[in-house]
Amino acid sequence: MGLLCSRGKVHLDGHKDLTLHLPVTKISDAAVIGKLYIPKLMANGREIAFTVAIGDSVKKGQRIGLAPGFYMPVFAPVSGKITGIENLYNSLVGRPIPHFVLENDFKEEWGEPLTLIDPNKASRVEIVSAIKEAGICGLGGAGFPTYVKYEKEQPIECLIINSIECEPFLTSDYHAMQEHLTLFIQGVSILLKVSGAKEAVIAIKVGKPELVAKIRQEIGDRKDIRVQEMKDLYPMGWEKVLVQEILHKDYEGLPSEAGAIINNASTAIAVADALLNGHPITERLITISGDAIKPTMAIVPIYTKVQSLMTFLGGYQADEINLLAGGPMTSKAMMNDNFVIEKTTGGLLVLKCVEYVSEPCLRCGRCILACPSSLYPCEIKDAIDKKDFKRLRDLEVNKCVECGTCSYVCPSKIDIVGSIRKAKLLLKLEDAKAAPKK
Ligand code: SF4
Ligand code: SF4
Repeated sequence: MGLLCSRGKVHLDGHKDLTLHLPVTKISDAAVIGKLYIPKLMANGREIAFTVAIGDSVKKGQRIGLAPGFYMPVFAPVSGKITGIENLYNSLVGRPIPHFVLENDFKEEWGEPLTLIDPNKASRVEIVSAIKEAGICGLGGAGFPTYVKYEKEQPIECLIINSIECEPFLTSDYHAMQEHLTLFIQGVSILLKVSGAKEAVIAIKVGKPELVAKIRQEIGDRKDIRVQEMKDLYPMGWEKVLVQEILHKDYEGLPSEAGAIINNASTAIAVADALLNGHPITERLITISGDAIKPTMAIVPIYTKVQSLMTFLGGYQADEINLLAGGPMTSKAMMNDNFVIEKTTGGLLVLKCVEYVSEPCLRCGRCILACPSSLYPCEIKDAIDKKDFKRLRDLEVNKCVECGTCSYVCPSKIDIVGSIRKAKLLLKLEDAKAAPKK
């Protein structure tokens, strides 16, 4: 049980030591990356417009499609040949969907590089356009297209680089910053320039003195980038909390209302790699951790099948497991392991199934104290059980960010966040039914 430290935040058992000091292994085994599976749909279920077909050869980093809606190009993660289409479960869409099968030829032949940018000479518009063409999105899990945050000129006071990684087990950003320190600071500098802010604050949770020292050394005597160490509390990495802690401001909709733009540390690295080296995102450094798998820090091409990776790592170490694509606080358990690593996948957790029985609510109020959105989770759960939709709206259930803290602190082991997710879906359906037919 976590110790309640302050309203809206809790200290969690981090389990970071499982992977924090491990070396990073690049996986090159043919059984894992011999075949890659490129989803044919976006997370919202819409079809990607591909410019390649079965039988085509592709180069690594070659642009092969464009996602609809927000402009988001798709790139081949390795060189090879597209040999077919297979249906696989998709962790983002939440159901089986068709995927292109890409047979890796292991030649590592790069296609045409992206247009290189000199950040000192390029204009803000040119840099934002280059980020857009590189298909960079938020690598902290949200996957929001990065260019959108910078497209509009707006008064920004501070660029916050979110290096908190506040979910237990995950250490991918920590390792990525260690591995690519120079690229990381170059990425922060590029984002700082396009944000128009006076300073960039790299927010890192306390307890990583070696990394902080290295980053400060890389920053040198620059006055426009600084590191701020943050308390080891959850959800310190949530954007609203970051803005409150660093700028002492609140906002309703977007951080820009409080004069901030927030990007994740791995996203900054990806921006520099694209603009300075011409490389789109073709691989991810991921944390594989938990009590039912061999903890590993692995670099794999995106679209690697999780099942093959887990087999390569020696398989699961329990008969019944929960497999999560992401951190334990906000991710849902996957139906199976027949899905692929996406650009946004920072971690895979394999946890032994623990049976627990929920007890009735004790009215202890811990969930209320812990909720970072200042909601009344126990009241919301009560309204859900009674299917009282009006009360759910009065209790502002849609302000829940699904951080999972209420379930974590609940002594009665009530799955409050699971019920809230369902309630939000039911309200959406109710809204859709009530909407006038077009
Ligand atoms: S999951 Fe929602 S209700 Fe529960 S603590 Fe987080 S924001 Fe509050
Ligand atoms: S739901 Fe859990 S944490 Fe909230 S008041 Fe009831 S027993 Fe306490």
